[in-house]
Amino acid sequence: MSETWNKRTRAVHGGTRRSQYGEVSEAIFLTQGFVYDSAEAAEARFINSGDDEFIYARYGNPTVKMFEDRIASLEGTEDAFATASGMAAVSGALTSMLKAGDHVVSAKALFGSCLYVLEDVLGRFGVEVTFVDGTDLDAWRAAMRPDTKAVFFESVSNPTLEVIDVKSVCEIAHEAGALVLVDNVFATPHFSKAVELGVDVVIYSATKHIDGQGRTLGGVILGSREYIRKTVEPYMKHTGGSMSPFTAWVMLKGLETMGLRVNAQAENALSVVSAVREHAALVRAIYPGHPSHAQYDLCLEQMGKGGTVISLDLKGGQPAAFAFLNALQIGKISNNLGDAKTIVTHPATTTHQRLSEDQRSELGITPGLVRISLGIEDTDDLITDFQQALDMALSD
Ligand SMILES: *Cc1c(COP(=O)(O)O)cnc(C)c1O
Repeated sequence: MSETWNKRTRAVHGGTRRSQYGEVSEAIFLTQGFVYDSAEAAEARFINSGDDEFIYARYGNPTVKMFEDRIASLEGTEDAFATASGMAAVSGALTSMLKAGDHVVSAKALFGSCLYVLEDVLGRFGVEVTFVDGTDLDAWRAAMRPDTKAVFFESVSNPTLEVIDVKSVCEIAHEAGALVLVDNVFATPHFSKAVELGVDVVIYSATKHIDGQGRTLGGVILGSREYIRKTVEPYMKHTGGSMSPFTAWVMLKGLETMGLRVNAQAENALSVVSAVREHAALVRAIYPGHPSHAQYDLCLEQMGKGGTVISLDLKGGQPAAFAFLNALQIGKISNNLGDAKTIVTHPATTTHQRLSEDQRSELGITPGLVRISLGIEDTDDLITDFQQALDMALSD
């Protein structure tokens, strides 16, 4: 692989390992174990296994390794560890490095399961977590302590799409000697500049844009070789959250087309927001890639584009949101995102139902808020569909 390759080339060729057959498409090694030539060879491999030597699929597998190498090359990190789901990546990245008595500072606008890990799980093991408004740099500064080991946030928050100033938060964290871990799903590996902005550990739910076609669950933790191999790998391989070879193969093929998909999705997001934002049924339309967004410049600086998700806040509250969802012909009601199919979600009654009404209103999750993950369908068809559904929400 050439060091000068850009992301789209790396996404197609990075990490490829070919067997003796010289197959064009990546081989899928659906095997749990590996045969050693001799007892001595088995012993040697357990002492020290080389780059192309494997022991057991929970520890590593050639197809999984291809996926790890490809995405590390794309993200610009030294190494990566693939996991069974996005949450195995988030929880593994944090629990592998933290111990009782450590302190963590986290943004409070988090994906529900991330909030559970930080609030419930870490707390039970004696890790103290301070939650801050992720967009308030003074709050980050004030929360740092000498025992702060890690800082955690989502680069773009879900579902209100607030953009966090990644570079500034990294500077604040590094000054305090803390490691920065970012759940970077909304940026996608294609738009991500996380490493350049100073992030130490980048985490993805591969379930989203990397698979991109709603088939498999997966995740990945990216960082320095030291952190991945000395901290994450021992923890993951012994606690069992490794990615399966079949999933790794789906994700490898997903990476090949990810750049094309997320660019088309971001273009659809911008076109739809531009077309419907003045609709009478709406309080507001939120998209970080539209000039009307308060953090438009920061978003473009950090991601180049606005990402693949928009949120619409409907005037008529929950009844209007439900009428809108039920009237859509193309957009499917579900809770995934990053899919080739447009997916619409009502956060207050589904993904963020667990939160209290106060917590929801603090995060800006109003009863009329709808999150839309744009797919790769025809732009005009999507605009027509959203417009007629908004009309229905208005007349309902
Ligand atoms: C989906 C998601 C996760 C969890 O990923 P899974 O693959 O479902 O485990 C974590 N963080 C964010 C921001 C997500 O969107």
